[in-house]
Amino acid sequence: MPIDHPLLTERHASWAGAFQPRPALRTFTVRDPASGAALAELPELGAAEAQLAVDSAAAALAQPPTLGERRRWLLEIAAELRAERDALAAIITAENGKPLAEAQGEVDYAAGFFEEAARHVESLAPTELPSRPRGLRWRIHHRPAGVAALITPWNFPLAMLAKKLAGALAAGCPSVAKPAELTPLSCIALFSLLHRLRLPPGTVNLVFGRAAEIGRVLCERPEVRVVSFTGSTAVGKLLAAQCAPGVKRLALELGGNAPFLVFEDADLELAARELLANKFRCAGQTCVCANRVLVAEPVAEAFAERVRVAVAALVVGPGCDPETDVGPLIDRRGFDKVQRLVTDALAGGARALVGGPAPEPIGGAGCFFPPTVIVGVTPSMRCAREETFGPVVPIGTFRDEAEAVRASNDTEYGLAAYVFTRDAERAERVAARLRFGHVGLNTATGPTPEAPFGGMGQSGLGREGGLDGVLEFVELQTCPVAED
Ligand code: ADP
Repeated sequence: MPIDHPLLTERHASWAGAFQPRPALRTFTVRDPASGAALAELPELGAAEAQLAVDSAAAALAQPPTLGERRRWLLEIAAELRAERDALAAIITAENGKPLAEAQGEVDYAAGFFEEAARHVESLAPTELPSRPRGLRWRIHHRPAGVAALITPWNFPLAMLAKKLAGALAAGCPSVAKPAELTPLSCIALFSLLHRLRLPPGTVNLVFGRAAEIGRVLCERPEVRVVSFTGSTAVGKLLAAQCAPGVKRLALELGGNAPFLVFEDADLELAARELLANKFRCAGQTCVCANRVLVAEPVAEAFAERVRVAVAALVVGPGCDPETDVGPLIDRRGFDKVQRLVTDALAGGARALVGGPAPEPIGGAGCFFPPTVIVGVTPSMRCAREETFGPVVPIGTFRDEAEAVRASNDTEYGLAAYVFTRDAERAERVAARLRFGHVGLNTATGPTPEAPFGGMGQSGLGREGGLDGVLEFVELQTCPVAED
């Protein structure tokens, strides 16, 4: 059924402070992943519209907002998000498929980034060195870096943009947002809210359609000085290459391959509970989802059994059903990938304790994959090397701490890792050796707006959240001042 909501009355790109109805040669369909039903038909825009969006943002550079204005806008946006929480959550669930409670959590999480960025605006006031090197006054300014391009994925249709937009606004950067074409509606709804606030035209702009074409314009236009991207490693590398000639700043949050380590002295009940909460969020389609569960040999069987029981009890269904624990995968491509990785593991000698390959998506048109636990997973299997992005728990074992650390680091990625042990010294020791940007110790919680989050290795560059998430969009300018 087509989606109908006051926040979605205008379904267009946006620049110059307003939605911009444009004739488009082609349209694309946004679908409900739970049913395959068409939710909306949007214009497929490209380079011409991207240019107009950048023009609009570039014009706004001429008058950077004051710190007070930025702070006020950030708090107003957060208040709007919180006031429209239920409406936004329904839109997120419709286009992404995640359960409604998760979608509501995503709106709160998104609002938190604006509130957190507002807290840091004052720290962008100019500072002066207390010493006076060379007999001069030295003033340090935090200038807006320039136009920011914000390219986001479909797994957190609202929050991924919120993270980036909050940092850009706090720093005083006008921006051009490019959401994923699978889930642009949450972003359009956000722009409906932004328009209510009457920010100066050009402060926030939106374009979607032909991603590669739009991406090229964003990377090539000289006014764009920061490209902030969350998505696949392949596209991140492409954007980095396209930004190299212009020496642009990049903030990249790319793929992960999170290890989840359970030592023999761990609280198994806690570890299993945390694993379930982490692994089945968004049906396993987040970059911080545990991708390799590695358990100390003596407790592996007991731990797998706990996980099996919990996973068998999960309810699969459409996100709008309050009973649902696990929604559909985003599309057929996602389904096929999960299917391939599970099939590969079973062919390599792993065993499914619950779930397993599905001959066809369960539920017909919607891409539901059965929650699955497989044991006997070895490091060479594809599910241990690639990001599964599905509701599958692959369990392998390790003999000692050294092997656990070595196996964890045996990946080009370095986003999130989790360590469960009752030995606090071991937890610290292991964390220090793990090449991951986020390491949960006896918790599998993901990022929070107050803390910096980002990857090491090929998981990315830069951080989002906290003061660091704002500084990604700030350019330092040092002014030595001679006094008469
Ligand atoms: P996924 O495989 O999870 O969909 P992608 O990296 O393909 O991840 O998508 C993340 C975001 O990057 C989306 O907004 C998508 O439209 C965009 N994107 C995909 N290809 C390009 C490209 N060549 N240039 C710029 N953006 C792109």
